Amino acid sequence: MAANLLDFDLEGMSAFCESLGEKHFRATQLFRWIHQKGASDFGQMSDLAKSLRDKLAINATIMALPVTSEHVSADGTVKWLFDVGAGDAIETVFIPEDDRGTLCISSQAGCAVGCRFCSTGHQGFSRNLTAGEIVAQLWHAEHALRQRRNTSDRVISNVVMMGMGEPLQNYAALVPALRVMLDDHGYGLSRRRVTVSTSGVVPMIDRLRDDCPVALAVSLHAADDALRDDLVPINRKYPIAELLDACKRYLDTAPRDFITFEYCMLDGVNDSQAHAEALVRLLRRAGLPCKFNLIPFNPFPESGLRRSKRASVIAFAQTLQAAGFVTTIRKTRGDDIDAACGQLAGEVQDRTRVHERLRRNAVIPIQPAPRA
Ligand code: SF4
Repeated sequence: MAANLLDFDLEGMSAFCESLGEKHFRATQLFRWIHQKGASDFGQMSDLAKSLRDKLAINATIMALPVTSEHVSADGTVKWLFDVGAGDAIETVFIPEDDRGTLCISSQAGCAVGCRFCSTGHQGFSRNLTAGEIVAQLWHAEHALRQRRNTSDRVISNVVMMGMGEPLQNYAALVPALRVMLDDHGYGLSRRRVTVSTSGVVPMIDRLRDDCPVALAVSLHAADDALRDDLVPINRKYPIAELLDACKRYLDTAPRDFITFEYCMLDGVNDSQAHAEALVRLLRRAGLPCKFNLIPFNPFPESGLRRSKRASVIAFAQTLQAAGFVTTIRKTRGDDIDAACGQLAGEVQDRTRVHERLRRNAVIPIQPAPRA
């Protein structure tokens, strides 16, 4: 079977080139063609010998993900729905800001963690994505956006692994995908600008620290184990104290000197002053440098949860800030195309309804983009 070259980090590409009887440096050339120029056709790779291009045509492929739909929000946010086969679909979201372009990438079709406030969690788990499927989201987004903006300059400066799935439960695919993002011959992203967001898979936080340290965000959502057990069920396996210890160890090699804690604000559940004060006590006791990102909940019917009132969110943030913690309240982006945090998998939960809904929303059909 032909190898999908999007699956390979540079080391993997070198091994593949060797298996074809080619020199190592061919891997670098291939990497640049694919990731920097967006090439999908070996015939375009003009500095490769014809004999190698012929070998590649037989033994390799560059497997893009079929795009089911693309929606562009009034605020410039772009959401793609990719078909990953067997009725599964994943979503990828681009969020433009003045000083950066952030791509939110999925790591699994569905998710097994089952957080109460997350529509992906309610959908259940279908399967892990391959490294190539993770990379293909960046590959498509970067080159489609360049083409649209008529530029050869990089558009995506930041990647957050915060789409569908728990990235640390798909570790074997995550690490090579991260290496492609970081490689100077690939996307050349800084480690500080690539963030893995986890619900708290403690042993894998330790492995990431050793294998490929990038910025780390942790979905905390509660300051005590009883509440977190309910909201983030993986807490029953890796309780808060163990999680915070792993975060401290992570800082030994992390590219940033703090951990970001995500906190989804749920009306009457975790958003009181008492909850904020408990959070302050917890993190002070832990002595862990951190920032907080408060996330307005995006309600969906099955959750039985409500979005916190604006005043509660602001009061919560003020308590954290007064205690000396840098705290931001996440702006909701792309609301008009359901691209806000926690809404992604809502589209996939009932796939029949998804496709009906996308049709109703006048999906923009995507033509395969000609690549450089
Ligand atoms: S919040 Fe993340 S870990 Fe929790 S169910 Fe959703 S995708 Fe999975």
